[in-house]
Amino acid sequence: MPDIFISLKEFDVKITMLGTGAALPDPDRAQSSILVTLENGKNYLFDCGEGSTRQMVKANINPADVPWVFLSHLHYDHVCGLPFFVLSSWVFNREGKLKVFGPKGTQDFVDHSFENGAFRVDIQARAAYPARQKNIEAVRPEVFEVEPGLMYEDEDVKIYIDVVDHIPSEITDCFGIRMEAEGKVVAFSGDTAPCESMIRLAQDADLLIHECTFPESFLKHRAESGVGTFAHTSPLQLGEIARRANVKSLVATHFGHYDSTSPVIKRAAANHLPVDLMGPERLDEVARDIRKSYKGDLRLATDLMRIDL
Ligand SMILES: [Zn+2]
Ligand SMILES: [Zn+2]
Repeated sequence: MPDIFISLKEFDVKITMLGTGAALPDPDRAQSSILVTLENGKNYLFDCGEGSTRQMVKANINPADVPWVFLSHLHYDHVCGLPFFVLSSWVFNREGKLKVFGPKGTQDFVDHSFENGAFRVDIQARAAYPARQKNIEAVRPEVFEVEPGLMYEDEDVKIYIDVVDHIPSEITDCFGIRMEAEGKVVAFSGDTAPCESMIRLAQDADLLIHECTFPESFLKHRAESGVGTFAHTSPLQLGEIARRANVKSLVATHFGHYDSTSPVIKRAAANHLPVDLMGPERLDEVARDIRKSYKGDLRLATDLMRIDL
């Protein structure tokens, strides 16, 4: 085949940033969720915060065509979209069971969500219709509570996970991820403070997608408010991580609403964010601080941003 046809190939691995926000309801950002699509059409979903399913549809992906989801940890901004994803993909005629991978506690979360939990009445009512009864397996996800190491492999991908530094481990594990597919490596931090395990997972990756929850100018205020100060990564720290891991490109994500102009967010966050500093100009500060250590390709995530590898 002439070279020109080869060069027209769109991608080996396509990443769609479905949600790039954090814990607050943000008019401009859905909560954490990343979709990885291989050239053969296979979809792998990483985290499923609020808004994920709607963003999938915006990105022209049928949620029923996503057979697999991994939950990095059980904070609500990474998992509360899961029930809607499961229920709406049932109605979209999902065939078979969704596979859900996550830390200890994932089985409990799923058990309490569907036929024996929060949506029991809804499922009973809809399952009265033969069309819904036909694929009732769609609301019975198969859960795999996973441990550090090679978490998953099929003929196309290998996915490694390790524990990162976010929620105290006596409550639950939080995982970072390294995915190898089509000769490409994508790493995703979940939520974490800087840690050596994440640097190992990201080593020489084609793309590192890493949380960057608060800019440096917010940290003093956060420390004084005493909420979640040490469980995240700042831009200066992220630049250092990306440099040490020698990644080819970096996407910073999981923004703690510091770029928001929403009056509702500003009022609600007044106790734990320095609202006078909030606004899009903080993104310039973030990019500048990351680049102090990291000289490679850098993007600050926006919802529905697409990255082709
Ligand atoms: Zn989070
Ligand atoms: Zn978290």
